[in-house]
Amino acid sequence: MRHIAIVGSGPAGYYTAEAALRQWGDGVRVDIFDALPVPFGLIRSGVAPDHQSIKGVSRRYETTALSENVRFVGNVYIGRDVTVAELRDLYDAVVLATGAPNDRKLGLPGEDLANVFGSAAFVGWYNGHPQFSGLAPQLSNDTAVVIGNGNVALDVARILAKSKEEFAGSDIVRHALDTLLGSQVRRIVILGRRGPHQIAMTPKELGELTHLTRAWPHVDPADLPPAAEDAALEPGQRKAVSHLRAFAAVESEAETGPEPEGGRVVIDFDFFAAPRAILGETRVEAVEVERTRLENGKAVGTGETYRIPAGLVIACIGYQTSPIPDVPYDDKLGRFANEDGRIAPGLYCVGWARRGPTGTIGTNRPDGFAIVEKISDDLGGFRADGAGKPGRPGFDALAAERGIDYVKFTDWQKIDEAEIANARDGAPREKFVAVEHMIEAAGKH
Ligand SMILES: Cc1cc2nc3c(=O)[nH]c(=O)nc-3n(C[C@H](O)[C@H](O)[C@H](O)COP(=O)(O)OP(=O)(O)OC[C@H]3O[C@@H](n4cnc5c(N)ncnc54)[C@H](O)[C@@H]3O)c2cc1C
Repeated sequence: MRHIAIVGSGPAGYYTAEAALRQWGDGVRVDIFDALPVPFGLIRSGVAPDHQSIKGVSRRYETTALSENVRFVGNVYIGRDVTVAELRDLYDAVVLATGAPNDRKLGLPGEDLANVFGSAAFVGWYNGHPQFSGLAPQLSNDTAVVIGNGNVALDVARILAKSKEEFAGSDIVRHALDTLLGSQVRRIVILGRRGPHQIAMTPKELGELTHLTRAWPHVDPADLPPAAEDAALEPGQRKAVSHLRAFAAVESEAETGPEPEGGRVVIDFDFFAAPRAILGETRVEAVEVERTRLENGKAVGTGETYRIPAGLVIACIGYQTSPIPDVPYDDKLGRFANEDGRIAPGLYCVGWARRGPTGTIGTNRPDGFAIVEKISDDLGGFRADGAGKPGRPGFDALAAERGIDYVKFTDWQKIDEAEIANARDGAPREKFVAVEHMIEAAGKH
C-alpha cells in the first residue's frame, strides 16, 4: 500500500490525487490536507465570481474526492498544526500543492499606505477568503489604479467596473457587493510598463470588457504599434491585440454616447507606464509614474514623469509561495527549491508551489501526473515490497493526540449545502467568509 499526503486542495492537489488513483488504484491511500475547511484553492478564492463556468471545474474534482481511497483533511495548517517532518514520517510521499498565496511586493515607496492592496488580498476580499474578508477597501475616490498587464488585472478592473445587475448569477460575497454598489470609482487606470504587444491578457478576458453596460475600455491609439507588426505575433496574442485596437477605435462613442445609469466608468489602458512611487499622507492620494520605452523588449524609463491622482491602488504583479519551516525555499523565484518537482527524498511539489504563478487551471494537470510518475519511480526503487509507512491510521492517532478535529469531505458538503441555501436571489451561493462559520455549518460545534 502506498500512502501519499498532498498538502493543498487546489487544482494541483486534486490532479495529483487523480493521477495517484490512476497509478495505483486500490493500492494507494491519499490524504489531501488544506489549511481551510473548504477545498479547491483558487478556484474558490481566486477565479472571478462572475466566471461561474470556470469555477464549475471543481465539480469535476468530486469524482476523485469521493473515492474511498482519497480523503480531504481540512482546517489543518501544515507547518503549524502538523509539521512537514511529521508528515514525512507518516506517508511514503508528501506533495506540497500549496500554491502561491502571497502578493509580490511592488518595492516602491508608499506601498504600505492605506488603500494600497495586492491582488491576493483584494481578490481574496471579493471572493470571501477568510484571511482577507476584513480588508475594507475604500471606494470613495473617483480613480483607481490597477498595476499589471495580466488577466488578474482585468478581473480586478472588471469587478470594479460592474453595475449591480451585472453581478447577477455571480457568487461575489455580500460584503464586497455592498461596498462595490456604493463605489465612487469612475476611472480605472490599468498601468503596464510595456506596450500592447507585451500584454499577458487573453482575448476572452479582454473581449468581456466590450460587453460591460456602463464601462468603456479606452486605449490611446498612439500607444499601438503599426498594425502590420501584429502579423509577427502568435495567433492568441494577435487576437488579444486586436481587442486593444478595437478599444482605441471606439473612443468617441464612449465619450458621446448616452450616460448610463450609475454613471460612466472608463477603463483606461496606460501603456509604457512604470509606477515609481505611491504618494499620500496616510492613505494613497496619487501614483507617480514614469513613461517608458522598449529597448530589446525591456521597459526603460524615459525620465518623463506624471502623477495620477487616485484613492485606490491594486497591484496585480504576481504571487509567491509561502515558505514552510524546514522546506528548502528559493527566495529569488518565490517558490520551493525543487528539481522538476523533487525537493528531497519523499518530498515533492506541484502546481504554483513548483513552477510559480503561471498557466491556467489545466496546466496543473500534467504537473500532477508527472509528479506521480516521479514518486512511482522513487518508491519502486526502495519499497517495491509494499512495506510502507503508517499513513492514515498514523495521522489519525497524531490528530487525536493533538486534539485536531479535521474537516472531512462530507463536512465540506454540509458547508456547500448551507452556502447554496443561503444564496441571495439569482446567486449560486453565499459563501461563509469566517472559518468559525464554516465549522459551525459543518456541524462540528
Ligand atoms: C485572481 C486569479 C484568477 C484566476 N482565474 C483563472 C481563470 O479564470 N482560469 C484559469 O484557468 N486559471 C485562473 N487562475 C489560475 C488558477 O487559479 C491556478 O492555476 C491554480 O489555482 C493553481 O493551483 P494550485 O493547486 O497550485 O494552487 P491553489 O489553487 O492556490 O491551491 C493551494 C491550496 O493550498 C492550501 N494551502 C496553502 N498553504 C497551506 C498549508 N501550509 N497547509 C495546508 N494547506 C495549505 C490553500 O488553502 C489552497 O487551498 C486564476 C488565478 C488567480 C490568482
